[in-house]
Amino acid sequence: MSPETLIIGAGMATAYLLQELENRGHDGDITVIGDERDCCYNRVLLSSLLAGETAEEALRLLPADQGRATRFIAGTRVEKVDTQNRLVRCDNGHEQHYDQLVFATGSSVAKPEIAGADVAGVGVFRTLDDTRKLLEVPGENRQVVVIGGGLLGLEAAHGLNQRGHRTTVLHRNQWLMNRQLDEEGGRVLQRELESQGMNIQLGASASRVHSENNHIIGVELDNGDYLDCQLLLVATGIAPNRQLAAAAGLATDRGIVVDGQLRCSINNVFALGECSQLGEHCFGLVAPIRKQAKVLAGQLTNRPGTDFEIDDWPTQLKISGIDLYRAGVLDTDAEHLVLRDPDHGVYRRLVIRDDQLIGAVLVGDKRGGTWYAELIHNRRNIAALRHGLMFGPEMAQTLAPATAA
Ligand SMILES: Cc1cc2nc3c(=O)[nH]c(=O)nc-3n(C[C@H](O)[C@H](O)[C@H](O)COP(=O)(O)OP(=O)(O)OC[C@H]3O[C@@H](n4cnc5c(N)ncnc54)[C@H](O)[C@@H]3O)c2cc1C
Repeated sequence: MSPETLIIGAGMATAYLLQELENRGHDGDITVIGDERDCCYNRVLLSSLLAGETAEEALRLLPADQGRATRFIAGTRVEKVDTQNRLVRCDNGHEQHYDQLVFATGSSVAKPEIAGADVAGVGVFRTLDDTRKLLEVPGENRQVVVIGGGLLGLEAAHGLNQRGHRTTVLHRNQWLMNRQLDEEGGRVLQRELESQGMNIQLGASASRVHSENNHIIGVELDNGDYLDCQLLLVATGIAPNRQLAAAAGLATDRGIVVDGQLRCSINNVFALGECSQLGEHCFGLVAPIRKQAKVLAGQLTNRPGTDFEIDDWPTQLKISGIDLYRAGVLDTDAEHLVLRDPDHGVYRRLVIRDDQLIGAVLVGDKRGGTWYAELIHNRRNIAALRHGLMFGPEMAQTLAPATAA
């Protein structure tokens, strides 16, 4: 008899895993238990949905008839895992046996402590339901504050701006997207966002929410300033959902600890996606999760392949009218080629060490981004391409023979 596979969480990692299992002809029973009412949708597109650039139907990741091969139990939360008896218990009392268990529980928004924040009008931007609620906010021209000037905070702020709200981003660091960009890139990005009508306050965080009749009316900042607002969104980073696994006795750290085959510390239990941790690394992008899904599908079908390995995964911002691409590392001790065109909001920085491209930041013009990422990934010698490197692959190739000569 083929083993029963149970997956906890019906997010993107699960969608990719189901696709990979199908590709390998997996024919055992699979049950997926997810606590959202929607299963396996494309979370990446929530920003475009909020901005009115994508329709909800476009978020579907799995074919409509996937349910025939897989049993989905939606809107149900797994509350306890008993690894001795290979059983999970859900919040509605349902119990489910498994032979192989996969944690795909994702992350939650890591919320900072803000006094008075437990009122209506304070929310997060993580799920389809969160997005639907934001889309239902009545009337335009509301004052909205978004806490967090990282990728998700800026995409949320852009979406709300597009809907006609007046949006202010509070970012506690000295420049936007400080984890991905250098200061100059962050400043160029800021100017572009401000020119689209977004307000940005750097070095600022919220200390207290003010409310009336249990609804937010404003927010006090730690520098003493006060902003009127009717909506506050928290986008200050994510924390892997590891608590359920920890309570079941699995090794956890920041996330659920896995090896290169996505195996957890107890037999027949696996984890992938944003809830997992390999070495020091947790994950917040889709690209590594797709790779994990391939590796785990090999494990679950008894045809293990090579280990999942840590790589560099480029970052892009999905804000219409603003190009942004970052790959590799921005080592300040290495050699830097920089192109600045402030009048057109363009800033391009390439980082080179020992004739190899090791990093690229492209703001305002991301042409060549995937080519740079490949050069970085393949550790290619770029000495001959150097002359035209800044201008993308065509120009670099055109100028290469002349340079070599
Ligand atoms: C707005 C937004 C934009 C993004 N844009 C990009 C982008 O441009 N590029 C990119 O690479 N990545 C992007 N990401 C990140 C990407 O969406 C995530 O990396 C990916 O969704 C992670 O997949 P996952 O399955 O690990 O987690 P999730 O997709 O979060 O799925 C986990 C699921 O498990 C459920 N769950 C948790 N605990 C339980 C439990 N006990 N019982 C039952 N169910 C449970 C959760 O509710 C959730 O539905 C974006 C994320 C957001 C929110």
